[in-house]
Amino acid sequence: MKGSSKLPVRRGLAIGLIAASVMAMGSVQAKGVTDADILKDASTPGDVVSFGMGTQGQRFSSLKAINAQTVKNLVPVWSMSFGGEKQRGQESQPVVADGKMYVTASYSRLYALDAKTGKKLWKYEHRLPEGIMPCCDVINRGAALYGDLVIFGTLDAQLVALNKDTGKVVWKEKVDDYHAGYSMSAAPIIVKGMVISGVSGGEFGVEGRLEARDALTGKMKWIRPTVEGHMGYAFDADGNKVENGISGTTNATWPGDLWKTGGAATWNGATYDPDTNLIFAGTGNPAPWNSHLRPGDNLYSSSTLAINPETGKIVWHYQNTPHDGWDFDGVNEFVSFDYKDPATGKVVKAGGKADRNGFFFVNDRTNGKLLNAFPFVSKITWAKGIDLTTGRPIYDDANRPGDPSKGADGKKGEVVFAAPSFLGGKNQMQMAYNPQTGYFYVPSNEWGMDIWNEPVSYKKGAAYLGAGFTIKALYDDYIGVMRAVDPVTGKIVWENKNYAPLWGGVLTTAGGLTFYGTPEGYLKAVDAKTGKDLWSFQTGSGVVAPPITWEEGGEQYVAVVSGWGGAVPLWGGDVARRVNYLEQGGSVWVFKLHKS
Ligand code: CA
Ligand code: CA
Repeated sequence: MKGSSKLPVRRGLAIGLIAASVMAMGSVQAKGVTDADILKDASTPGDVVSFGMGTQGQRFSSLKAINAQTVKNLVPVWSMSFGGEKQRGQESQPVVADGKMYVTASYSRLYALDAKTGKKLWKYEHRLPEGIMPCCDVINRGAALYGDLVIFGTLDAQLVALNKDTGKVVWKEKVDDYHAGYSMSAAPIIVKGMVISGVSGGEFGVEGRLEARDALTGKMKWIRPTVEGHMGYAFDADGNKVENGISGTTNATWPGDLWKTGGAATWNGATYDPDTNLIFAGTGNPAPWNSHLRPGDNLYSSSTLAINPETGKIVWHYQNTPHDGWDFDGVNEFVSFDYKDPATGKVVKAGGKADRNGFFFVNDRTNGKLLNAFPFVSKITWAKGIDLTTGRPIYDDANRPGDPSKGADGKKGEVVFAAPSFLGGKNQMQMAYNPQTGYFYVPSNEWGMDIWNEPVSYKKGAAYLGAGFTIKALYDDYIGVMRAVDPVTGKIVWENKNYAPLWGGVLTTAGGLTFYGTPEGYLKAVDAKTGKDLWSFQTGSGVVAPPITWEEGGEQYVAVVSGWGGAVPLWGGDVARRVNYLEQGGSVWVFKLHKS
């Protein structure tokens, strides 16, 4: 039986996979990952078939074999190097289905591995052209699974779908022109048979948007621009564009022409909430950074957008930083969660977002109404708070970088010290929510920046900032702080300081644990209630990626990608120099409990 060992249906499958394969019976071949598998991902610990370990993005697992008592016995099972001279930042979350792991690496590479043994099954290396322009290292955050396909975005702004068993290209679509600064770094998500993806390139004045394609064919379904003024489109069966409504009202919040190159890149992906049937996407900075060139709120930059998956229309929006002047990309993930209102006892369908601007926002996820907003970092200079009645920030106008046209020579505006720095109270690293503790676990950083504005005009493919800056740590002994945040009370319940800035995501489990990595190389497990250090392991390079966990053959596994890099070494100024002793790398580590 040639090739029978590669048949996707095997013995000893976890419950969720048995259900999936039963559903597939009657057809000639197993159908691979289905919409149903993805929708129930959070409650099926036998696999991890979505970015966020569930479409709501909670990164919570019901597994508890590894817990506060047993975690001391957690040992490595295997490690695999991404190899080559191509290292740099590794920000990827692996996905695991049917005993196989699919993990992306720097320079648009993707590996299929046997999840139990680490045996390499195939590798795809995307051929990258000269002249790609990723702003913040050659990273990738992960792949989506659908049917027999593994789908990911590349640094030259293409979406590539590979056969999950062979690694052969099934379809490939150009999303946009890399010469104009477009690239892709986020993990796509799957909603109702569609692959949903965003674009990177806010520092080059790209046109931010979310796109939906038929996941099996790559054919366009709709495109929703994220800058007010641009037209959205649906696509008919023949692929023809059908106007699908303008995004907002042209020139309402962007007087003049700058909206045409207005940024608002959707570079950190999206989540999907089946309860409300909404896709939630964060949007990046309005371009350029120099806010004096673009009066108004500049919708929908630095916002959370709720989008209907059937039509691609914006159902609600909440702008975290109107008229952003600090590069406070609001791309941070909006994570759905429910809580009981202490006053009424009613269950509230909410979403939490730890924004780059230093505030933690809680919105009603059915309509976007702001429910709570509070600082999750120690110092915020740009606003005195968020007005819960109007939903708007209370600006400290003295702390907006000055208008260069009013400077002495017209070339440099007044320098201000702003906190957080543009690298954010939190950046790309994904937080986790534990429904058992009711806490969000937020990887945060304590830093500020000297920032000033300069004149700038748009030129295709050139950096479009109109600003200069130097990032500075606020404290001598730490920058990173892992914080447990109670979204209802707004209290920081516990915090763990870290010398280097935290840049990796979080996993939390029913075993009462919270896992996260550090640039110093450690994968750590701490008590989810108290933050107490319970276990750590040195992975050999900095961890800037989110850990995952799953179960196979009755054993719980934990995996994380290791490889220092990302935006900090490239943009970090004083901070980059402070951590320049950290070594690059590129590997996957997998752990399970040692049986004595
Ligand atoms: Ca699952
Ligand atoms: Ca930005």
